[in-house]
Amino acid sequence: MSFFRPEIEAMQGYTPGEQPQAGKFIKLNTNENPYPPSPAVPLAIQTAAQTLVRYPDPVGTAFRQRAAEVLGVEPDWILCGNGSDDILTIVTRAFVGPGQSIRLPYPSYILYRTLAQLQGARWQEIPFQPDWSLPAAFTEGTDELKLVFLPNPNSPTGTVLSPEEVLAIAERLPCPLVVDEAYVDFAEQSCIDLVKENEKILVSRTLSKSYALAGLRFGFLVAQPHLIAELIKVKDSYNCDALSLAAATAAIDDQAWLQANVEKVKASRKRLLQGVRRLGFTAPDSQANFVWCVHEKPVKPLYEQLKASRILVRYMNYPDWGEGLRISVGDDGQIDACLSLLETLLK
Ligand code: PMP
Repeated sequence: MSFFRPEIEAMQGYTPGEQPQAGKFIKLNTNENPYPPSPAVPLAIQTAAQTLVRYPDPVGTAFRQRAAEVLGVEPDWILCGNGSDDILTIVTRAFVGPGQSIRLPYPSYILYRTLAQLQGARWQEIPFQPDWSLPAAFTEGTDELKLVFLPNPNSPTGTVLSPEEVLAIAERLPCPLVVDEAYVDFAEQSCIDLVKENEKILVSRTLSKSYALAGLRFGFLVAQPHLIAELIKVKDSYNCDALSLAAATAAIDDQAWLQANVEKVKASRKRLLQGVRRLGFTAPDSQANFVWCVHEKPVKPLYEQLKASRILVRYMNYPDWGEGLRISVGDDGQIDACLSLLETLLK
């Protein structure tokens, strides 16, 4: 006899990228930032540590105010989350019931599928076209379709759809479209302004990548206030703790630090792209902090040999689509170490 719902027993569970706890690795597998966060962050945490006897602000008022100024919206357009994974969980729980459907592009972030499974919902994966656009099937409405996820820039490919394309998709859909902008600070354009134009567009962001705060667990959603008000009913009462709220507020306040960090990553991304292409990989132009690398030779042995030499990249194999290595943009030294080992392995 099992105590579990059949959906839970049937599912595999999401497997996060490896986080080795011992030994020293060059870690290019989970799109972390190679540079530290703003120095204002540890100071804010120290101050907030004095307040832990109290529960945190349930909605993160200070963060919402500061983020609203930075993003050009009002504070009630923002929902704080314990990482953007928490945001994605909240929207799925709010919009999608058992037997209903979510839609996502293929390949993309594997967690969306897991979230559907947890709800006892179905999922439809619509493959990207060779030019990285999405076919008309992505916008076809059905009665069961309740939520569409669109990572933009996409993972694992780093490719983007323009705001015009995203708006056109939203206009044709019968349900909310979550534009997952986890990597948008490394891109040329954002869809954040579309939230004002169309209530179906919700934009999710994270501090894990561009703000160099993956360990903090902080993300947020930008959507029209009537939607945010409903979503607040779905979240855990205190989904963000006092330390992360204080740290996130300090981080978003330091836009100069963010910009300097992003510029360094973008310069290194160019170096990585040129390097892997020189080694015979096919890699699309990336607007994220990683590069998707496909080779005519099988890449799993490359991943394994890199790992044996303490360089971690992400090996991904998408059934009916293909396999590749997703290499995060580290600093130039890390990239050069990775490229020179790949060069030796490919000889
Ligand atoms: N969206 C995408 C597309 C991602 O790749 C990730 C990182 N795994 C996330 C969301 C979640 O990031 P976090 O929970 O750290 O904010």
